[in-house]
Amino acid sequence: MTFTMTTILRSMNFALKKSSCRGIASISSLSETHQMLYKMCRDFTESELKPNAAKFDKEHLFPAEQIRKMGELGLLAVEIPSELGGSGLDYLAYAIAMEEISRGCASAGVIMSVNNSLYLGPIYKFGNDKQKEEFIRPFTNGQKIGCFALSEPGNGSDAGAASTTATLKGSDYVLNGAKCWITNGYESEAAVVFATTDKSKKHKGISAFLINKPCPGLTLGKKEDKLGIRGSSTCTLNFEDCPVSAENILGEPGMGFKIAMMTLDAGRIGIASQALGIAQASLDVAIDYASQRKAFGASILKLQAIQSKIADMALRLESARLLTWRAAYLKDKKQPFTKEAAMAKLAASEAATFNSHQCIQILGGMGYVSDMPAERHYRDARITEIYEGTSEIQRLVIASNIIKQYNVQL
Ligand SMILES: Cc1cc2nc3c(=O)[nH]c(=O)nc-3n(C[C@H](O)[C@H](O)[C@H](O)COP(=O)(O)OP(=O)(O)OC[C@H]3O[C@@H](n4cnc5c(N)ncnc54)[C@H](O)[C@@H]3O)c2cc1C
Repeated sequence: MTFTMTTILRSMNFALKKSSCRGIASISSLSETHQMLYKMCRDFTESELKPNAAKFDKEHLFPAEQIRKMGELGLLAVEIPSELGGSGLDYLAYAIAMEEISRGCASAGVIMSVNNSLYLGPIYKFGNDKQKEEFIRPFTNGQKIGCFALSEPGNGSDAGAASTTATLKGSDYVLNGAKCWITNGYESEAAVVFATTDKSKKHKGISAFLINKPCPGLTLGKKEDKLGIRGSSTCTLNFEDCPVSAENILGEPGMGFKIAMMTLDAGRIGIASQALGIAQASLDVAIDYASQRKAFGASILKLQAIQSKIADMALRLESARLLTWRAAYLKDKKQPFTKEAAMAKLAASEAATFNSHQCIQILGGMGYVSDMPAERHYRDARITEIYEGTSEIQRLVIASNIIKQYNVQL
């Protein structure tokens, strides 16, 4: 039996205990569906993710069991309509769920984010019925996950300079080149891959392809040994005369760059939410510890120096959350959200870096060892300022959109 988020939410019928809510303080202002989703994710995070996250990190272990359960809860296809096996919820729901899952385990967060927004997102938006049936439905319930392959060894931020080629031979395109840093690279059973079908057209010659994994001509590179999010796999996809049916082009030939940029706009709201989860987890750990730790005869939470840090952490977290929810709201209302998504990702990832840094400081020596989760949050936070566009790239996106509004000549 396939469970969707909607059926689960309907059957749960529980009363929210506001007083027991830590985490997202402003959740009670949202719709009942969003509150129930939040509670479901919070319970899952407390019971399944928080107790295991340190082990996933330490042993570089993919959280297979938890990802399967998240699939059953509808968390791997939040925005996909129920006719295709998804939960049929809005993007704000996705942001709330991503934050709560990432609060428990940032690795589970990125695995969820890549399947939802980078893999299923563009196929749902640009795929035809046949492609949706083959590449969406089996990837909604946690049995299979997908990946998104844009970055290359020679270019990351400059994605329009793709050098992986796709050459038409009969009814197939033949792919050659390498895609690097691919999250879910090991476990995924399909990929959205970007390759150039016409180099002379530069970024307008890039096309997006749907590829089943494994397949002839595709080999995987070594599993990257990362600073953080170590429960997720990252590797290179090497293509050597890899045939892909022309039927597997997503959208039209030459639309790949546009598909990639639109996908990343939405994806950034997911990474912002992942960062919020890390920032919130850091605040939770800091307050828990500070309330118990005594120095000079009293709890250190009574010290104004510590309270000042707590205030700064909460301020950054909550302002980043407002930006993130605004971007999700605009996407749900089908209004432009490129600038807002970039602002959300920039603010939330910097909040995660700041909060996890302050959390270590508040814990003192105990912040520096792996007995406590503070150092893991610090390591996990770092990637949110790099993938799906570095902080420098977010600033460029924000500035170019602001300058456009002023209508000035450069
Ligand atoms: C763990 C991990 C997971 C990832 N997952 C995926 C994935 O699933 N799929 C995928 O396709 N990619 C993925 N990536 C790749 C990621 O998106 C890129 O690493 C990122 O976009 C930066 O590209 P780069 O590493 O090539 O850095 P570069 O582009 O070489 O940038 C290096 C530095 O130069 C700066 N810079 C570059 N251009 C400019 C500019 N115009 N103005 C100002 N500063 C600039 C950057 O901000 C950065 O500080 C992942 C990366 C990591 C580390």
